[in-house]
Amino acid sequence: MKDIDIQYFQKNLIDWYLNNHRSLPWRKTEDPYRIWVSEAMLQQTQVSTVLPYYRKFLQKFPTIKHLARAELHDVLKVWEGLGYYARARNLHRAAGNVQQQYQGVIPTTWNQFRKLPGVGDYIAAAVLSIAFGLPYAVVDGNVKRVLARLQCIAAPLNNSTSTKRFKETAEALKDTQMPGTYNQALMELGAIICKPKHPLCDRCPVQRFCLAYQTKTVAEYPKKKAARQTPQYHIAIGVVFKNGRVLITQRKPDGLLGGLWEFPGGKIKKGESAEAACVREIKEEVSLQVAVIDHLAQVKHAYTHFKITMEIFCCNYKSGRVKRNGPVAHRWIKLDEIDQYALPRANHKFLPKLKKWIEMVS
Ligand code: SF4
Repeated sequence: MKDIDIQYFQKNLIDWYLNNHRSLPWRKTEDPYRIWVSEAMLQQTQVSTVLPYYRKFLQKFPTIKHLARAELHDVLKVWEGLGYYARARNLHRAAGNVQQQYQGVIPTTWNQFRKLPGVGDYIAAAVLSIAFGLPYAVVDGNVKRVLARLQCIAAPLNNSTSTKRFKETAEALKDTQMPGTYNQALMELGAIICKPKHPLCDRCPVQRFCLAYQTKTVAEYPKKKAARQTPQYHIAIGVVFKNGRVLITQRKPDGLLGGLWEFPGGKIKKGESAEAACVREIKEEVSLQVAVIDHLAQVKHAYTHFKITMEIFCCNYKSGRVKRNGPVAHRWIKLDEIDQYALPRANHKFLPKLKKWIEMVS
C-alpha cells in the first residue's frame, strides 16, 4: 500500500458521493432484501438495464417471503432478458434458505450470509456494509480499476491471482465509520468518473491521491492479461410444428441459461449442413423425426465468453413420441402462449419473424 492520507481520501470521496451520486431506487432504501436484489442484478449488468427489472421484480416479489414462496418458473419469467440466470436461481434458493433457517430474517453475520446460494465475497460485502453498516470492503470490476489507478497496481484485473492484491488494498482503504456510503462512493466513482476508457480526471474528487494521475500514467492502468480469442459456435434450431402447436423444451436447472425454455437444436458438426444438423439434433434431443420446410432466419448472439450464429428452421413433425435426452421438460404450445415461458434472449430475436412466417403460411 503506497502512502496516502487515508482519512482525507475517504472524506473527499464520501463528500463528493453525497453531493453527486445518481438517484437510484436501491439507494433510497435500507431494506437488506431490496439492496441484495439490486446487487445481484447489477453483477455484470449496467444500471440502465437493471432499473426496469428491479422495479418489476420487487412488484412481483416485494419481500423475501414472497420470493421464497414463488415458483422458480415465475422468478425466471421476471428475470427473462436480464441474463446470467444463475443469479435468479440462486436468489430464489437463498430466499428459501433464509425463510427456513432464519425465519425470514436475513442474517447479519458474514459466515451465515456468505453461505447462502449465490452470495460471494462481493455480494456479502456490499449487502452487509450498505444495509447493516458492517465494515467490509467491496471489490468489483469498477473498484479494481479505481484502485489500480490510485495505487499504480500492475497486477492485471482479469487474473485470479491478483484478486488478493486488490482485496488487501481495498481493506487498507476502507472506511469503518461509514462503510456502506464509502463502498457505494468508490463504486460510483468507478462508474461515472474513473471510467474504463476516458476517465474524467479533471472532475475526480480523489485526484490528489491518485498515483497514476500524478505520474501521468493513467492510460497504462489497469493492466490486462491478453484476452483469449472468443469461441464461436454455429447452431441449428428447429421450430417443430404439429397440429398447430410448436415444441419447446426446458433446459436443466443448472448451468448456462438453466431452467429456461427454448426450441430444440444444437451445434452443427464439421462438414454437416445446418439443415441436417437441425434434423439430427431434434432426433437426439427429443427422439422425433422432422422434415425441414423452411429456413426462417440466421441470428447472431454474443454471450460473455462465446458467440453463436443460429440457423433457425421451420420443421414439420413426421413421427415419434417425445423422449427427452437432455431437456428436463417439454410442451407443445400455441405460439401465442410463448410469453408465459422464460426464453433466452437469443430466441426472442427471431420470434417476430416466426410470427410473421406463421401468418404468411396459414
Ligand atoms: S484521477 Fe483519474 S485515474 Fe485517478 S482515480 Fe481519479 S479519475 Fe481515476
